[in-house]
Amino acid sequence: MYRCELSQSVPEFEGRKPHVVPAGTLAVKVTIRTRPTEYPSRPKANNLRIGRRMKQFDDPGGTGYEIAQEVLACRACAAEFAALRPSGPVSEPSVDA
Ligand SMILES: [Zn+2]
Repeated sequence: MYRCELSQSVPEFEGRKPHVVPAGTLAVKVTIRTRPTEYPSRPKANNLRIGRRMKQFDDPGGTGYEIAQEVLACRACAAEFAALRPSGPVSEPSVDA
């Protein structure tokens, strides 16, 4: 048993009452917002055995998106939300930008 949080946190579902889902129903985590992020390069982060010797390799780092907000929802609401917003989660501007 859990409370479906999608109706409380998404503007598309505004005006709906948050409903309680009966026990035994599968829950889905829905990503609502993401943010762009950068991962710095890490020198000598990976160890790999080549023959008898251990060799160290650098992790190049990079850029991507990480989850900024995620809510618990029932499958019916999650499917409806995916149909309403086919482009996926809204990305907010970077924190340090
Ligand atoms: Zn629901």
